[in-house]
Amino acid sequence: MSRFWSAVTHGLTPYVPGEQPKIENLVKLNTNEHPYGPSPRVLEAIREATSDTLRLYPDPNADRLKAALAARYGVRPEQVFVGNGSDEVLAHAFQGLLKHELPLWMPDISYSFYPVYCGLYGVESRVVPLTESLQIDPTDYLPDGERRAGAIIFPNPNAPTGSALPLEAIERVVAGNPNAVVLIDEAYVDFGGESAIALVDRYPNLLVCQTFSKSRSLAGLRVGFAIGHADLIAGLERVKNSFNSYPLDRLALAGAEASVEDDAYFLESCRKVIATREALVVRMQALGFEVLPSAANFIFARHPQRDGAELAAALRQRAIIVRHFKAPRIDQFLRITIGTDAQCEMLVSALGEIL
Ligand code: PMP
Repeated sequence: MSRFWSAVTHGLTPYVPGEQPKIENLVKLNTNEHPYGPSPRVLEAIREATSDTLRLYPDPNADRLKAALAARYGVRPEQVFVGNGSDEVLAHAFQGLLKHELPLWMPDISYSFYPVYCGLYGVESRVVPLTESLQIDPTDYLPDGERRAGAIIFPNPNAPTGSALPLEAIERVVAGNPNAVVLIDEAYVDFGGESAIALVDRYPNLLVCQTFSKSRSLAGLRVGFAIGHADLIAGLERVKNSFNSYPLDRLALAGAEASVEDDAYFLESCRKVIATREALVVRMQALGFEVLPSAANFIFARHPQRDGAELAAALRQRAIIVRHFKAPRIDQFLRITIGTDAQCEMLVSALGEIL
């Protein structure tokens, strides 16, 4: 490789996504997709959009989707930003809103894309360890003497632990750092967390990011959004418009709009996943696993007598894929996506054989 090429890419540590194997004959519980498909109204809307409109450019402002999200979440359309998955929304935030003279603070066990974006966009960061019980301690994010954050980011519920902070803890962090942008990544909030969207009108430094990939069962469509003060949203729009003025394609817009309009389906399908999760936790504990409290569509569990990597490999031999992270402090854990009741049953019986 010539030194000119390497000057551009040297030092980047790219994100390694969870594998996406062909799913026939596999129980795929490794990347937190929803086990049930999206609302039938979503599929209908996408079919309609394919009929005669694909030759036309999509709406560069995604006005209808923003209006639908604004109505659903009780904010104004100018408080809503949309992008190709929340990863893109986060990328724009790292490029434009989270880079300051003071460092960005984030948990040391969290969504592994954050450090990747820091490297890519030159954002200086400071990692804050989780507590002994792998929780985020909100008081660790309050300024202390000379220690101040330029910006703060963490998921709520956290990933890959699944643990959630209550809204008043989030509010303490946001209120305690009035000069820092606080980005709460709520990819999993619909499975039992409390959304900080309720706070955006009171705190101009708060940005909340959500995705259609998990609770809305549309990971393949790539839709994410952020809600916050109109000034923060305008900042994201400026970053987006600096290189890509079409946030979403026509199919994504049609599907996402229909998803937001079918709230009953959305709420019911999340309720089913939560019920399956609660039942699975009990079964896992009966097998001897320690399971962290989860408000997400996955659980994070370890067996005190068995090695995490070995368990993941043994499950794989039985065509069940779960996620194992080779990272300090969490390498004994398995992150298991909540599947259908039948898939969870297969998981439990496979673990029963292995243990
Ligand atoms: N945030 C967190 C915490 C996640 O786990 C994920 C999914 N891996 C994302 C954001 C990105 O999701 P998407 O780009 O599919 O919206």
